[in-house]
Amino acid sequence: AVKAAGKGHYRFYETKLYEALRSRVDREHELRHAIEHDELVVHYQPRIDISTGLVSSMEALVRWQHPERGRIEPHDFISLAEETGLILGIGELVMDKVCAQLADWARQEHKIIPVSVNVSLRQLSHGNFIKMVTTCLKRHRIPAQWLEIEITESTMMGDSQDVSEVLSVLQKMGIKFLIDDFGTGYSSLSQLQKLDFDVLKVDRAFTSEVDKTEEGRVFFTAIITMAHALGMRVVAEGVENERQISILKRLHCDEVQGYYVAKPLPPALKQSEFPLESIPEIA
Ligand code: C2E
Ligand code: MG
Ligand code: MG
Ligand code: MG
Repeated sequence: AVKAAGKGHYRFYETKLYEALRSRVDREHELRHAIEHDELVVHYQPRIDISTGLVSSMEALVRWQHPERGRIEPHDFISLAEETGLILGIGELVMDKVCAQLADWARQEHKIIPVSVNVSLRQLSHGNFIKMVTTCLKRHRIPAQWLEIEITESTMMGDSQDVSEVLSVLQKMGIKFLIDDFGTGYSSLSQLQKLDFDVLKVDRAFTSEVDKTEEGRVFFTAIITMAHALGMRVVAEGVENERQISILKRLHCDEVQGYYVAKPLPPALKQSEFPLESIPEIA
């Protein structure tokens, strides 16, 4: 009986392992197919300047519109894309879609709001990154000033030499750089000073504390003081209620982004047509 159970277990794990491997290969194949068959779409989430109540930028967030399984969020495919290198193709596709969208918007209205694109360290340190970006800008005839790039803090560890070179070349062209998810990584003050970022986006985990605890407010204040001292603007990510916004305003936070203001949405005909929930209350 013991032997039979053992054998059963073995079969069970064998099947599980087989399924896990097969599904990984399948998922990679599917993702590759998605890239080639234009199943990736870009949604946009506005970022608001607290002092004016105006949209200062829009963040491009990729989604996978699967023909059978419906919409798949980045959480469920970005890490696979990172591991397989497919993130390079996705990154190029997103950059091209964003530039095409900006060119489209420019045909509809006079004033253009910049778009920020999320880029992983793997993309940024790939030798072709600068060329890829400049090619997209040229293809759609849009100025570099309309583009911003977000890099997640937790990926900036270790040798930042390559990053710092790419950063300064693109910054000289007029592209702004943002540190994303700040507070989740371990960047030292010296790293922050060396890499000359323009904007610091504080992770949602810290935003959700400002209307809950005094410690939360103290922590946020410290980040703002440090960022301002280093010449960076501060964005609070994931703002979900009005109280958070009024507290953040009092703490001299510069900008907010979150479901309370606007969710990521498919591109509207005009940038100025993006529905915003609460602009009058902010300004
Ligand atoms: P992120 O860059 O930090 O983007 C913010 C995420 O928080 C987005 O999730 C957004 O939909 C969500 N969010 C915004 N406001 C709120 C809020 O008030 N409450 C809550 N609970 N969530 C909010 P999303 O779109 O699922 O993206 C997840 C992550 O995937 C992004 O985090 C980014 O790191 C990555 N990502 C998205 N698009 C791209 C891309 O084109 N390239 C790369 N490399 N990464 C991407
Ligand atoms: Mg981001
Ligand atoms: Mg973030
Ligand atoms: Mg995040």
